[in-house]
Amino acid sequence: NTLEKAHNFLTTWKSFPLVLENYVSNTFASSSYFENIPSFNPQTGQLYAHVPLSTPAAVDSAVLAAEAAFKTWSKTTRAERSKYLQRIAALIQENRELFAVWESIDQGKTLERARVEVDRAVSNFSYFSTYILHEESSVRMIDGVALTYEHRSPAGVFALISPWNMPLYLLTWKIAPCLAFGCTAVAKPSEVTSMTALLLAEVIRQAELPSGVLNIVFGDGATTGSALVKHAKVKGISFTGGTATGIQIRKDAAAHIYKHLSLELGGKNPTLVFDDVDLEKAVATAAMAAFENQGEICLCGSRIYVQSTIYETFVKQFTSFISENYKLRSKVGAVVSLQHYQKIRSYLLLAEKERGTFQLGSIPEEYPKAGYWIEPTILTGIATNSRIMREEIFGPVVAIAQFEGEEEAIELANDNPNGLASVLLTRDGARMRRVGERIEAGLVWVNCWLVRELGTPFGGMKNSGVGKEGGAYSRDVFTNVRTLHLPS
Ligand code: NAD
Repeated sequence: NTLEKAHNFLTTWKSFPLVLENYVSNTFASSSYFENIPSFNPQTGQLYAHVPLSTPAAVDSAVLAAEAAFKTWSKTTRAERSKYLQRIAALIQENRELFAVWESIDQGKTLERARVEVDRAVSNFSYFSTYILHEESSVRMIDGVALTYEHRSPAGVFALISPWNMPLYLLTWKIAPCLAFGCTAVAKPSEVTSMTALLLAEVIRQAELPSGVLNIVFGDGATTGSALVKHAKVKGISFTGGTATGIQIRKDAAAHIYKHLSLELGGKNPTLVFDDVDLEKAVATAAMAAFENQGEICLCGSRIYVQSTIYETFVKQFTSFISENYKLRSKVGAVVSLQHYQKIRSYLLLAEKERGTFQLGSIPEEYPKAGYWIEPTILTGIATNSRIMREEIFGPVVAIAQFEGEEEAIELANDNPNGLASVLLTRDGARMRRVGERIEAGLVWVNCWLVRELGTPFGGMKNSGVGKEGGAYSRDVFTNVRTLHLPS
């Protein structure tokens, strides 16, 4: 089977590029694409796999398979669906190391980081497997004359489209609720990181999920993703990726107004450091927020604003903390692709041009010889209206600036078209609320970062997205609601 093949392949991957196959109606299919997209190992720069560029016809057959499966899957009991989800969670758990190794080879992240994300993928399935068993719905009696209640039904076939930064975790964050709430799906992972979706397809096969409930097609955005989004039989789209793509998807979906849309988009997240902090703890939290997964997490805090009274000390301590604790290879992985490496490099060239100071890091060579490695880079002296401070770089690069008081801190934090996440570092309890409630971001982490509870609303404000996911918020994405009035 594929898991075994993938396992064996691990020992020989340097000489045998793997060819991925779509998974439709519980079958691996090898003949539904125009051509292959080469996939490279970011840590070495070597080719190791070919990802099929699926045709619109292949997308169509996957959607039809999902549509046929919806007829029965949408009528299964919650207990039945829960069992399938638990089986999938257990199978991923059993193959934890295989998933983690492949995620690391495919994405560039460290093995340690990959293991965390595999565990979180398991949690996605186990969380929604139990959530659906404990759902509540509201019933109201109106003046004793009418009983009113909400009735929900699964919305239909969904397109689930994910990016390359946390491939397995983000794809399963969509698949788990989609199946739990009775919908069927065609999932399309990023063409840059498709490997763990292939392993997931094998897990789905072994879990004996009914045919067509989850189909996985590989391919790029322009051909495969776009065909999926525009398909009339796709009733909803859950998308995570860049803001420009989100805008395109919203346009493409507009012709079919019934499509449910959940768009989780890019960020340029601020970290605010006030002068009452415990400096050691604040440095460690800001460091994690900036450089975890080499800065390739949409929630990373890539612009740090420090109160002027502690600015110099913070910069010094932060820089020495990063150079001691965030070593390339052991803690910081390679960036995902050559294209992305060069995009990050272009921002570093801009920093040089704008006479910023590199407290740590330097400009990497244009064509790296072995893998896409960029040292953690700390910039100071960058104008707050510079593109470096305003645009998402999505790599191991952070810029630090200063502020005088609370009002200026809030202004700087909000002076950005994005509004995904933020970190607020202060020991003043009143300020936590006073400032926290004014930051224009879907997530405000106070003295912490990346704390998640899967029932809380996840999603951005402003250009960072439309719609929330998590617990009951995911239910809103994947179900239709009708209100019934029963007069007595
Ligand atoms: P991307 O937008 O380029 O691609 C994301 C996915 O969309 C890929 O699978 C791609 O093939 C597909 N796609 C591209 N064009 C499409 C189209 N026209 N129609 C349908 N599908 C299309 O993003 P990326 O470069 O893979 O990922 C990085 C971005 O993702 C960053 O901006 C990051 O902030 C964002 N992100 C957001 C979150 C969040 O939860 N808000 C989480 C992770 C990443």
